Amino acid sequence: MRTLINIHLRRISLVLVLIVYQQSGFAQKPDFPWPDGKRMALSISFDDARASNPTGAALLNEYDVQATFYVLPDRVKANVPGWEATVKWGHEIANHSVHHPCSGNFGWTQPLEDYTMDRMKKELEQANHEIQEILGVEMVSYAYPCGQTTIGKGAKSQSFIPLISELFLTGREWLSEAPVDPWYCDMAALTGMKMDNKDFKEILDLIETASKKGQWLILAGHETSDQGNQTTYLSMLRQLCEYAKDSANGIWIAPVGTVGQYVKEKRDEMLGSINIPQITYSSSNEPIELRAINGRGIGPEIEYMPEWEAFGWFTGKDYVEWEMDVSMPGKYAVEMEWSVSDEESGKNFILETETDEVEGAVKKTGSWETFRKMEIGELELEKGYQKVVFRPAKEFKGGALLDLRKITFRPKK
Ligand SMILES: [Zn+2]
Repeated sequence: MRTLINIHLRRISLVLVLIVYQQSGFAQKPDFPWPDGKRMALSISFDDARASNPTGAALLNEYDVQATFYVLPDRVKANVPGWEATVKWGHEIANHSVHHPCSGNFGWTQPLEDYTMDRMKKELEQANHEIQEILGVEMVSYAYPCGQTTIGKGAKSQSFIPLISELFLTGREWLSEAPVDPWYCDMAALTGMKMDNKDFKEILDLIETASKKGQWLILAGHETSDQGNQTTYLSMLRQLCEYAKDSANGIWIAPVGTVGQYVKEKRDEMLGSINIPQITYSSSNEPIELRAINGRGIGPEIEYMPEWEAFGWFTGKDYVEWEMDVSMPGKYAVEMEWSVSDEESGKNFILETETDEVEGAVKKTGSWETFRKMEIGELELEKGYQKVVFRPAKEFKGGALLDLRKITFRPKK
């Protein structure tokens, strides 16, 4: 609250927003708005369409819990009535490939190292088509067999996450070590944490971690039975369902595709107003836009202000850092978009990369509410990954530096 004492009046309206932000535990991110005030999301999933899965599905039905089953066409064909019933009960049926390709080191599958992107795409579409023919469902989710996301070897090796992103709403990995951060995650590379051969106490530890951070926990298993390898125990599932359905525990339990759709919608709706630091890529001849919303505020009192889509500066120790990848090196004109009150204007700032910098004074814009764009100088940008920092030129006592919304680099001819 100290931040707000000497500040311009209009910022009083931000008090509530700041309180929420400070309590969230994330630097500038609010808690994810799960439905009905729930504290976390939980998805239960099973891979390979194992023969025991319809039994597991029946247990889930007792609790009205819907899971995601990642299946292969041949396995579905082996028990069509069982899988039809699973669909009827509202579980999600999802894609787990045609041949279950994994690394050739396993020795029992078609090696991913020998796949091309073209073949991968064909087979994913084939699995979609065949499963849809049998069960009449359209698939929006995929699970990477063995959790592996690359094809080819060495110099020819490449990720097929972009392909999954093109064909599906969600892609799930396996043997991951952290739950999903719904604000940050790549929807085509969701983490999947092992549920097999664990007792409820072990699963509860995962749930409690996810719940504290407002995350999305995706559990992944294989067989659903009382014993055996790669088996999610029915007794554990029962306890898990009871716990997840107890409203006191604040858990939204739903299939991966359902939660994925919700996360996507919330992000589309809110990402414009939530500060999530992430790298900015450039393409040749296009201006590079460093927006406050993608910058990382560092310092004692730097604050991202969603209603202005800008960072506000309150001390000389605060700065904002961006990461960017420059495809075309050379001279760029630098444009700044900012606002400042007349009485706070005039302080000096520095915009710097590792090799060049621009210094200037914050010019008047008329008021905190009026944003203005102006060229502030020229900068030589190197090719490739680099950091850009905007900071006050020196310490100042009280007051503010400016509200900064965007820095744009325009290539000079
Ligand atoms: Zn599998």
